[in-house]
Amino acid sequence: MSERDFSEVRRIVVKVGTNLLSSDEGVSLSFLASLCEQIAHIRMMGYQVVLVTSGAIGIGARMLNIRERVTSVKLRQACASIGQPYLMHHYSTFLSSYHIITSQILLTTELFRNRRTYLNTRNTLETLLSLGVLPICNENDTVSTAEIGSAFGDNDRLSAYIASKIDADLLIILSDVQGLFSSDPSSDPSAQLISEVPVIDDRIVTAAGGSGSTFATGGMKTKIKAVEIASRAGCKCVIASGREKMILEQIAAGREVGTYFYPGKKISQRQRWIRNAQTSVRIIIDQGAVNAIRKRKSLLPSGVTAVEGSFSAGSVVMINSIAKAVPSFDSTELQQLIGRHSRDIRKITGSHRRDVIARPEDIVFIDEQKVYVQDNKKQRDLL
Ligand code: GLU
Repeated sequence: MSERDFSEVRRIVVKVGTNLLSSDEGVSLSFLASLCEQIAHIRMMGYQVVLVTSGAIGIGARMLNIRERVTSVKLRQACASIGQPYLMHHYSTFLSSYHIITSQILLTTELFRNRRTYLNTRNTLETLLSLGVLPICNENDTVSTAEIGSAFGDNDRLSAYIASKIDADLLIILSDVQGLFSSDPSSDPSAQLISEVPVIDDRIVTAAGGSGSTFATGGMKTKIKAVEIASRAGCKCVIASGREKMILEQIAAGREVGTYFYPGKKISQRQRWIRNAQTSVRIIIDQGAVNAIRKRKSLLPSGVTAVEGSFSAGSVVMINSIAKAVPSFDSTELQQLIGRHSRDIRKITGSHRRDVIARPEDIVFIDEQKVYVQDNKKQRDLL
């Protein structure tokens, strides 16, 4: 079996999904025991590990004897509140036999949107890792819902945001499928496991069940989205089956298992924060302003035509549907600045304020979809 060059990998985020964790009794203790043993092993191999775990809602539902998928928001929140402590209890019990101290971090998109709480969470994760603790993360499903715009929606994406936040070298997404296939393996006998993905192109999006395709094996679509997020942080990603023996050790050792996605060009932490923040508030600008900011010029008030929603200065907002930005003014101030000349900014908002709405470094385009691979020889050869 050939090897992948993971020699520079030090920090690994491992994500495990509900399907792997749950059983008819609630949580699959045999899976959890094996996962914890593997985590203990890779930590002994010298890797720092952060675990992102699902399962809270599933375990809570089983405890309430609910057999079908929980769709009601209130019930999901209640199930998460019941299941999360049990999930943590099992992890800390298994891991304490390897003398591993665990910690719990429950996250919402709001914590990621706000620069201060974003940095605080990052500092906490860094401190825990430096203390040799195993941080165990999940979405705070009890308080965050898609309805109030505070949900990540799935833990694939959450794991990628965490990998990006802490500059992880490798994100391992464990699933109940072996990796990404060229087509749906359940209906196409010629489906092939794709071993390496140098760049996420249309072929990969289609294979993952993008538009026009009816299959989305193991939620592969959200996994590819997660890979794109991690990729922009220069993080390598592997999607593999959590049911395979010693899968974490095999992946860390560079064995060719699952699907390996090459890292993309790393963008700065601040740019990643802007890009990854989920936001529904918006500044609408005219075509002239679009052209200007695409040429890396500042966003000026003369190009603003509308402001949607309420936000504070320094938070992340959408610019039309093409970019995200951090404006220097809040939504009330911006309403007053619509269509005005830049020289009016200080007259309206005060002499100490900036004379532009957002500088080029405060703007990140989100419609430049392609994730480019890093320029090293092996990747060039494969492209
Ligand atoms: N956070 C959810 C849970 O703990 C799972 C979300 C997901 O599986 O993507 O149950």
